[in-house]
Amino acid sequence: GLALAGGLVIGLAACDAPSDTPAGEGGGDIESVGISMPTRELERWINDGEQLKANLEDAGYTTDLQYAENDTDTQISQIQNQIASGADVLVIAAIDGSVLAPVLQDAADEGIKVIAYDRLINGTENVDYYATFDNYLVGQLQGQYIVDTLDLDNEDGPFNLEPFAGSPDDNNAKFFFSGAWDVLKPYIDEGKLVVKSGKEPASNDDWATIGIQGWESAGAQDEMENRLASFYTDDKVDVVLSPNDSLAQGISEALASNGYTPGSDWPILTGQDADKASVINILADKQSMTVWKDTRKLGEQVFAMIESLKAGDEPEVNDTETYDNGEKVVPSYLLQPEVVVKDDVQTKLIDSGFLTAEDVGL
Ligand code: BGC
Repeated sequence: GLALAGGLVIGLAACDAPSDTPAGEGGGDIESVGISMPTRELERWINDGEQLKANLEDAGYTTDLQYAENDTDTQISQIQNQIASGADVLVIAAIDGSVLAPVLQDAADEGIKVIAYDRLINGTENVDYYATFDNYLVGQLQGQYIVDTLDLDNEDGPFNLEPFAGSPDDNNAKFFFSGAWDVLKPYIDEGKLVVKSGKEPASNDDWATIGIQGWESAGAQDEMENRLASFYTDDKVDVVLSPNDSLAQGISEALASNGYTPGSDWPILTGQDADKASVINILADKQSMTVWKDTRKLGEQVFAMIESLKAGDEPEVNDTETYDNGEKVVPSYLLQPEVVVKDDVQTKLIDSGFLTAEDVGL
């Protein structure tokens, strides 16, 4: 019960005072899993939720899958219901990583184990494990793609760059931005990349100043329209750093309505998720790349974590340093993301069954 969360921390952090219940105790009594997903708006979360639910149900667990339509209060009340209806494990992709501490205290009081899914949950001891993709690497891959495509080690430019960042309430967004900015900043300092709008965070810690609330395509579209209207009346943007596909889709709309032409003066545009609409844009030269995170692998990893808990074993983790949530460093399993460009759509996305040819009009 109560001691369990503490016991897990101590076991994993290899502290010197293992006074609590070991993680294994109580294994075997896990039957019911509550899955809390942020929204149906972005396709990836639909896949994530349905796939994890199917894996668990095939193995005999009962599940409750909820979507909170990007509303924090809805997510909290859905989690409260899952606690009340007897969940043994909660798998949560938080909308706002900083507001779940009270409801997770209720979960801990019931001895429920909590796995943070894709996004870290901050400010609470009561998150036992975290499974995600290497979020910093996602950003690095986007930044390096820009450096390589513009050949910035040989070319002087200057090239006009417009950077975007993700939702300020999502813990992942700062990792995406930092990964990309650590790669790109040296070229800005050299003058090879220029941010004409001045929408350039003073430091990595200020990334939220260019964050798009709720990862909304419409918000990114408006912002891009504004930047184009204010700073590009007699110049062209050469590259747009977009942290994910939902933002890239909005940015792409703004580019099209401002007369940019795919295959000619369309800027380099990054993304993440291999969302169908963005893969279609990649095939149409309206987006340059996406960072693919095979969500099936994330689902399998979380399933394996739950199976370990059920067996009374420690779930496997491969990172115990990176994800400090302010109360503890959450033991994490990080998966590897990979770049997908036009030529990889068939070999990586379709041949693996992640998308079908029909999905993307091939
Ligand atoms: C996820 C991304 C996703 C974004 C918007 C992030 O936390 O890691 O895959 O694009 O949220 O939903």
